[in-house]
Amino acid sequence: MLFNVKMETLPREEIEALQTRRLRDLCERVYANMPFYRRKFGDLGITPADVKTVADVAMLPFTEKDDLRNNFPYGLFAVPRDNIVRLQASSGTTGKIIVAGYTARDLDIWAEVAARSLSAAGVTRSDIVHVSYGYGLFTGGLGAHCGAENIGATVVPASGGATRRQAHLLRDFGATVLCCTPTYALHMWESALEVGIDFRHLPLRVGVFGAEPWTESMRRDMEEKMGIDAMNIYGLTEIMGPGVAMECTEAKSGLHLWEDHFLAEIIDPVTGEQLPPGTVGELVLTTLTKEGTPLIRYRTRDLTSIDYTPCACGRTHLRIARLEGRTDDMLIIRGVNVFPQQIESILVESDGLTPNYQIIVDRANNLDTLEVQVEVSDTLFADEIRKLQLLETRLQKNIKEFLGVTAKVRLMEPHSIPRSEGKAKRIVDNRLKD
Ligand code: ADP
Ligand code: ZN
Repeated sequence: MLFNVKMETLPREEIEALQTRRLRDLCERVYANMPFYRRKFGDLGITPADVKTVADVAMLPFTEKDDLRNNFPYGLFAVPRDNIVRLQASSGTTGKIIVAGYTARDLDIWAEVAARSLSAAGVTRSDIVHVSYGYGLFTGGLGAHCGAENIGATVVPASGGATRRQAHLLRDFGATVLCCTPTYALHMWESALEVGIDFRHLPLRVGVFGAEPWTESMRRDMEEKMGIDAMNIYGLTEIMGPGVAMECTEAKSGLHLWEDHFLAEIIDPVTGEQLPPGTVGELVLTTLTKEGTPLIRYRTRDLTSIDYTPCACGRTHLRIARLEGRTDDMLIIRGVNVFPQQIESILVESDGLTPNYQIIVDRANNLDTLEVQVEVSDTLFADEIRKLQLLETRLQKNIKEFLGVTAKVRLMEPHSIPRSEGKAKRIVDNRLKD
């Protein structure tokens, strides 16, 4: 279902023309109202008048996460504080929190893109949408909420926590859509089973999962366990919140990024050069319409690629590939680059393992060590020790073969790895401790 047929199917030339107009307007606005950007433009010897087409974005300065931190709290606000009607802040997964300000129009646009996103996942006004993303400064809860409300669905603002109670609510209210992080969905599914509630026997049919990296293997696993379509949603506080990009049910391959509001580029994270479509690099986003805290060429640190090929669903907006993780999540183990998602893919492929895992990095005799702790299912746990040992050896071999690093794999008792109500903590890096 398309929420905004005209905008979602706008021909590419028209998208680009609109982007050009909006980019020029954005440059005028930030130059006039934000000393931060006026200085950055000045350093590069450019003014807004130099921006003639959308391709000229490449001449503009980048904005980094540290710029947001250094100007905390209000240094990057582009309108008088009286016009700001909401503040949200990032959960600070990778350090100090950052804050975003929204004008009333920004909130309308957020509700628009969030509604487009949920609609792409198949949500309609007939649905009952249970939102278990945290409500509060974190954008997850309110973001999914405003989208569902805008569609006219029945929203259950459950927020995170009290997990067993949530399972009862899901059943009692007859939710058809669940919005939360993929790890929290798994946690809820597990807690539900403990109280005799099987997701497969509920009216639940769609999961809108995001806010953290997850893999295609995890999707298959969740769809089977829960009897749902598990859909991937992307967003970040700095740019808006959830609803920047979303998969469609027709293709379930790549996330449509709403290009009338967000201008996307992929760059080489080392050189900063733009990369061609199809090449994986760092996603850089420019907020074309945001008034409160607009950003030019924001370096998200998220890794993906861009695909402009037409989609089966008829939407004309480009698709970004499933996010591969953040540049800051990349582990360098004895010189080899490893992402947690690569390890996850290998684990989830094995029968008898749960998607609950943690990666422990340490240093022994000046050499990096990698240990992967993964929980086994109750059935496997009851099996012979020898079988478990064989599985450990096989996983170690697969990790070595596919990723080129030596890892120690430790199978853990069911329920021994801490569950998360929001974003999972996958990496424990003891090298950073003294
Ligand atoms: P924080 O930086 O504190 O985690 P946010 O709550 O704003 O702040 O989270 C945004 C980040 O979450 C994104 O930059 C990205 O790294 C991650 N993220 C969001 N959605 C997805 C997704 N569908 N897949 C992978 N990562 C995601
Ligand atoms: Zn599509």
